[in-house]
Amino acid sequence: MFGLIGHLTSLQHAQLVARELGYPEYADQGLDFWCSAPPQIVDNITVTSVTGQKIEGRYVESCFLPEMLANRRIKTATRKILNAMAHAQKHGVNITALGGFSSIIFENFNLDKFPQVRNIKLEFERFTTGNTHTAYIICQQVEQASQQVGIDLSQATVAVCGATGDIGSAVCRWLDKKTDVQDLLLIARNQDRLQELQAELGRGKIMALEAALPLADIVVWVASMPKGLEVETQTFKKPCLLIDGGYPKNLATKLQHPDVHVLNGGIVEHSLDIDWKIMQIVNMDVPARQLFACFAESMLLEFEKLYTNFSWGRNQITVDKMEQIGQISVKHGFRPLLV
Ligand code: NDP
Repeated sequence: MFGLIGHLTSLQHAQLVARELGYPEYADQGLDFWCSAPPQIVDNITVTSVTGQKIEGRYVESCFLPEMLANRRIKTATRKILNAMAHAQKHGVNITALGGFSSIIFENFNLDKFPQVRNIKLEFERFTTGNTHTAYIICQQVEQASQQVGIDLSQATVAVCGATGDIGSAVCRWLDKKTDVQDLLLIARNQDRLQELQAELGRGKIMALEAALPLADIVVWVASMPKGLEVETQTFKKPCLLIDGGYPKNLATKLQHPDVHVLNGGIVEHSLDIDWKIMQIVNMDVPARQLFACFAESMLLEFEKLYTNFSWGRNQITVDKMEQIGQISVKHGFRPLLV
């Protein structure tokens, strides 16, 4: 059995979902309520591969909300993630993806040092961040969607916002090794980590966001921001392709211009309908078929009986591993969401 640990994008989103699911008493509750809410299994899932193989899974809502980080409720945030992991393990899940902020919190607060959750000793090999598949899918989106909108990669400047992150650094490695992209712009706040990445790649220009955006034909957004940025259409080169892989979204504004193409990043489409409710709640356009690539990674590992933390730690994703998970992804009928 596979598992997915997820969370909603904001307190407002959580309140809305509670009302839609028929819990009006939860819908009026503030952040304190969500801070004390325990993890819950809210969906049982069946996925069928194009090979005919069928697998079962569980969706665990951790009740974490990004506002907990913004309000410095760090202890609460870390407790949410550890409790959700223990919940998945207790329910016999073999391989669970840590969606959205779950893996970021796990890594940033070194939760590997706290394996004991009450009477459960967490077995970390039963979890994966899902970031290898996410990075692979974003790279496929760069390669395929650029063609769709008429951007030639060999003459293109690609800016990666969140370049030093786990997903961002993997995207940079792939673009460097597997494509003929002309220029890479590296964006993040910590300058030491940017310089390390630049040294590893042997290329890439370190730039501030405001300076980079007007130069980029393609922007990959994978910064771990608890709230999206307000950005104006006139900031961008025309045409341009913006691939927003953040959860919550890095771009808060709905950009409407015929030459500014915004693509939901890190999202896959399955070839067959999936029997679940959860993707409606996170507002996927086609909830029976579209899902986060990190969630799909745990499905792929279950299909292949690869019970190992395929994606783990930070900035260790190799191009070889991206190719490996990419082959499995295609084999079971997943493809990147395109324009
Ligand atoms: P990491 O924490 O590993 O990396 C985050 C990156 O963002 C770092 O480079 C960080 O560098 C940078 N960053 C953070 N804040 C800012 C800012 N204000 N301005 C510029 N750069 C910033 O995160 P991940 O790589 O694990 O995840 C990235 C995003 O992808 C998250 O939003 C996550 O929720 C989403 N995600 C999506 C998935 C999917 O399936 N679609 C799966 C998993 C994650 P610095 O701190 O130096 O600025």
